[in-house]
Amino acid sequence: MNSDDLPSLRSALEAHGLWANKALGQHFLLDMNITRRIARAAGNIAGRPVIEVGPGPGGLTRALLEAGAAPLIAIEKDARFLPLLEPLAEWSGGRLHIVHGDALNYAPPYAASAADETPVQIVSNLPYNIGTPLLVQWLKAGPWRGDMTLMFQKEVAQRIVAKPGTKAYGRLAVLAQARCECRLEFTIPARAFTPPPKIASAVVRLTNLAGPYPHLDALERVTAAAFGQRRKMLRSALRALTPGAEDLLRTAGLSATARAEKIDGAGFCALADAWRAICPTESTTKP
Ligand code: SAM
Repeated sequence: MNSDDLPSLRSALEAHGLWANKALGQHFLLDMNITRRIARAAGNIAGRPVIEVGPGPGGLTRALLEAGAAPLIAIEKDARFLPLLEPLAEWSGGRLHIVHGDALNYAPPYAASAADETPVQIVSNLPYNIGTPLLVQWLKAGPWRGDMTLMFQKEVAQRIVAKPGTKAYGRLAVLAQARCECRLEFTIPARAFTPPPKIASAVVRLTNLAGPYPHLDALERVTAAAFGQRRKMLRSALRALTPGAEDLLRTAGLSATARAEKIDGAGFCALADAWRAICPTESTTKP
C-alpha cells in the first residue's frame, strides 16, 4: 500500500485552507521520505496496534499506514484537521481511527485489557510543549504500552538518552532508562519542518526493558529532590525530601557527599527503594 496516489500533503493543507498554529506546537513534516524513515525506526508494525499523537496533516499517519499499522489510533486536538484526515481513514480500509481530543487525557481502550494482548506501540512527532509530560505518563503506563518511537526537540532527546556525569543527565534520563532502553536514532534539521522551529529535532526509540523498575512515582520524587539542587551534595539536596537524608543514603549504599549527576540509574532505584521503606505512605503519593 503506497500513499503516493493521494494528493500531496501540501496540496491537502492548501485545499483545506490550513496553516500552522504555533500554540499547539504545530511544525509539520511534509516530506514523505522523512516520515517513512520515522515509521521504519519503529521496526515491524505490520498488523500491530499503534497510537499516534497529533497526526496534523497526516504525513506520519500515511507512513504508518503504509507500514501496515492496524489499528492506528490517531489523537488530534485541533478540530480543523479532522476533515483533512477523514479521506485518509477511508483510504486505510478501516485501519485508521481518528480521535478528536487531548492526548494528555486520553485513556486508550487497551489500558484495561489483559497483559497478554499485543502491546500498543506509540509513534509520534510530538507537539513540543507537551512532549515531556506525555513521555512520563507513558513511562508509567501498564502492560498495554509497547515500545515507543518519538520525535522531540533535540535537546530533550539528548536528556532522555544521557549518561551519568554528563550535562544532559537528569530526571528524564533516570525515569526513561528505568523503564526502557533509550536510543537516539537520528536528528532532523529545523528546515525539514513547515514552518521551521527554532531548533533541530531528534527521534528516540524507547524499547521496554525485560525487568523495568516498578516504582516510578517514588523515583520521580527522589530524582526531583536530588536534581532540584544538582550542584549540592546529596545529603543536602535530599533534605527537601526527608530530614533523614543521611539514613536514606546509607540504606541505599550511596555516599552522602556524592552529587546527583554522578549517580547511575541503579543508584537512584536503590534510593527510591530506601525511601519507600522509610516513608511507605508518602512515597506512593504524588506531591
Ligand atoms: N504529525 C504531524 C507531522 O509530523 O507533520 C504533526 C506534528 S506537530 C509537531 C504536532 C501535532 O500535535 C499537531 O497536529 C497538533 O495540533 C497536535 N497536538 C498538539 N497538542 C495536542 C494534544 N494535547 N493532544 C493531541 N494532539 C495535539
